[in-house]
Amino acid sequence: MKLQDPIAALKGFGPKSAEKFAKLGLFTIEDLFLYFPFRYEDFKSKSVFELMDGEKAVMTGTVVTPANVQYYGFKRNRLSFKIKQGEAVIAVSFFNQPYLADKIELGSELAVFGKWEAAKSALTGMKVLAQVEDDMQPVYHVAQGISQAALVKAIKAAFDSGLLSELRESLPQELMDKYRLMTRQEAVAAMHFPRDLAVYKQALRRVKFEELFYFQMNLQALKAENKSESNGLIISYDREKLEDKVSALPFPLTDAQRRSLDEILADMASGSHMNRLLQGDVGSGKTVIASLAMYAAYTAGLQSALMVPTEILAEQHFQSLTELFPDLNVALLTSGMKAAVKRAAMTGIADGSVDMIVGTHSLIQDAVSYHNLGLVITDEQHRFGVNQRRVFREKGNNPDVLMMTATPIPRTLAITAFGEMDVSIIDQMPAGRKPIITRWVKHQQLDTVLNWIKGELAKDSQVYFISPLIEESEAMDLKNAVALHQELVDYFGDSATVALMHGRMKNDEKDAIMQDFKKRKSQILVSTTVIEVGVNVPNATVMVIMDADRFGLSQLHQLRGRVGRGDKQSYAILVANPKNETGKKRMTAMVDTTDGFVLAEEDLKMRGSGEIFGTRQSGIPEFKAADLIEDYAILEEARKVAGQIVADKNWKEDSRWQVILANLAEKGNFD
Ligand code: ADP
Ligand code: MG
Repeated sequence: MKLQDPIAALKGFGPKSAEKFAKLGLFTIEDLFLYFPFRYEDFKSKSVFELMDGEKAVMTGTVVTPANVQYYGFKRNRLSFKIKQGEAVIAVSFFNQPYLADKIELGSELAVFGKWEAAKSALTGMKVLAQVEDDMQPVYHVAQGISQAALVKAIKAAFDSGLLSELRESLPQELMDKYRLMTRQEAVAAMHFPRDLAVYKQALRRVKFEELFYFQMNLQALKAENKSESNGLIISYDREKLEDKVSALPFPLTDAQRRSLDEILADMASGSHMNRLLQGDVGSGKTVIASLAMYAAYTAGLQSALMVPTEILAEQHFQSLTELFPDLNVALLTSGMKAAVKRAAMTGIADGSVDMIVGTHSLIQDAVSYHNLGLVITDEQHRFGVNQRRVFREKGNNPDVLMMTATPIPRTLAITAFGEMDVSIIDQMPAGRKPIITRWVKHQQLDTVLNWIKGELAKDSQVYFISPLIEESEAMDLKNAVALHQELVDYFGDSATVALMHGRMKNDEKDAIMQDFKKRKSQILVSTTVIEVGVNVPNATVMVIMDADRFGLSQLHQLRGRVGRGDKQSYAILVANPKNETGKKRMTAMVDTTDGFVLAEEDLKMRGSGEIFGTRQSGIPEFKAADLIEDYAILEEARKVAGQIVADKNWKEDSRWQVILANLAEKGNFD
């Protein structure tokens, strides 16, 4: 017999059972070995006194009465006997398993797994165990037509076949030594039938490492291949000019900014193709870094383009680029622009007189052609579809690609979901920024809040109010915003102008309201979450979020990021009477930290990795044994060592790594 033989080759199994196992994706004997239990029944014997009513557990004792089988009706019967554990006598019953009577010997020690019924001091038996010592019984996922018992029987048969010794090792010896990992054969045996908890933990560690290592190996091997292709653009930027620009900034770059900039510049200068994600909290200074990268492209005689999700943002970036590079020809391109202005911009973009372009998805329209686009940057990358990003890339001649996101993604996810990208992280705020003070208040305290806001308005500050979010009902969102607006108009009277902005408005309407707010024509802005994305009004220092518990943590964090953009002390007020624990946890997390990465990690714990952006994010693989959050340390280690291996160009020729190559194709496929 061989490992690759069908299950039907095992003694006691035929084509009929093979058909059933196929439902679980189990075809060969090897498949059985590698089908791990998802949990274990703890078969450690318990004392009567530790048991809770209804609990399933193993009890041991001496058989003190002979087994008695009572029949009542066709195929229905009950086997009963008593066991004594210390001073306690326990009544045990098994239903419809009369054959067990043979195992019940008066005066013998017996271990029974069953369900405890406290009131009757009785155990409804489910299983008589052979051994009395500590034991962990595997529990497998099953499908219709296959019982736990049948699966265990098949797996035991696989072990009895002796074929485990044929199972090939899949990790290099060097790594097993380095991390003190069990061999594959030891681990597989211990995953199914662990001797004890300690052995099981070691087996699990080996299995998780193997899974995460191959996942990382696959990504990194791909990445290394991409890099070695010499089709990337070499952007020979002028180092001196660039550093002059950096020095001319009104502030020194933070260490994290400098590191990110250097990573980007190194990619650009190399012949390999840049595919990099720049992530950092709102206000951490990503845009400055992106602008400097654009400038570097300019010094190499290449155009660069920055695509953003909204017109407001495009204008904002256009303004800051023009201020930063007064000698350059920067063009703006949005759908809201007048036709003639647009045409002029497009002409300049096509003939190369324009150096840098910033705009919305107008940038990727067919009519727009570029002279020599060397660098494309996407802001808030998750707001654009994969297709849009691809079209953007194809506007240039294999340009370098930089993506930005202000949604802090826990490192764990960044290196998995975005494994094919390089990631630069700005995890540090510019010096001197005053942390936003966050308070959580109940609805009953709203009067106090409003009264306090009067004081802030008197200091010439401006205030955002975010109206409650009604999921899946835009109409209700609007109604809420309108009602809140009216209440605030009534409350503040002539002392403040209260503006209203919501999702049903046209873009230019929203723009006008935003511009008025920026120019301080209004002091309070009531809004649905449409202002979520990157608008900069440094004088707005108070953010009030109504029914804050209805928002997810990352959204709350994004909203809070609208304030704290100037020198003045800023505040976020969360108004919420949360109805559940999650809501409460979100509020306290927001009060406890302003660090987006910490919050993202919390969000991940609360909502699961699939929902980090509020929508299901594709590209995050499902692991069999490993858990991205729990096993972060292993993931990091796997990433590191995989990176070290592929760093050697000739790693595929290295005899130490042949075992990886043999397994890579097979294990690397996580799609
Ligand atoms: P982001 O794009 O990450 O939200 P920005 O690049 O727009 O952040 O920067 C936010 C604000 O902080 C801008 O006004 C910018 O000029 C300023 N800024 C950026 N980097 C620094 C720094 N290192 N020190 C001080 N201020 C900075
Ligand atoms: Mg930004």
